Amino acid sequence: MSEPKYVLVAHMGHNAPWLQIQTRMEIKERIAYIKAHKPKGERPLRLKLLKIVEEPLPPKLENANAAWQKADAARKKAYAARAKAYAAWVKAYAARQKANAELEKVVAAWARADTAWKKADAARQKANAALEKAIVSPEGIAFHQQVCGCAWTPERPDILLQIATQEEKE
Ligand SMILES: [Zn+2]
Repeated sequence: MSEPKYVLVAHMGHNAPWLQIQTRMEIKERIAYIKAHKPKGERPLRLKLLKIVEEPLPPKLENANAAWQKADAARKKAYAARAKAYAAWVKAYAARQKANAELEKVVAAWARADTAWKKADAARQKANAALEKAIVSPEGIAFHQQVCGCAWTPERPDILLQIATQEEKE
């Protein structure tokens, strides 16, 4: 998009500053507005005095105009940078919303997995207790005799006690 070029224009409005910086488009629109909406008796004078000034400016006005053009260019540049920053903000915000939704999903999945783990852990604890009970049941004791045959008993579970017993025997 090319920037509209400015011109200096005299008497844009009946009570406006006598000289203004405007674009040709704004001047064209103002002329059309005067022709369409201003009282018929005012139109000839308004249209006669409203004119683009192309004469060289005296130094004070030339300096002021140059400073204005420079400030306007800087303002446009800052506006474009601001628009770019805003677009980045909008994009990052959308990404954050998406990430938040994803986070909620994985946290919920973790909570479900944690519940399942607690249940499985409790079930194993129960199974472990049953196993510990089974190995010292009459069947478990008989099976120990079958596969090992040492002096271990549930009442004397420390197998090292057998050392003293053996020494006594020898
Ligand atoms: Zn044994």
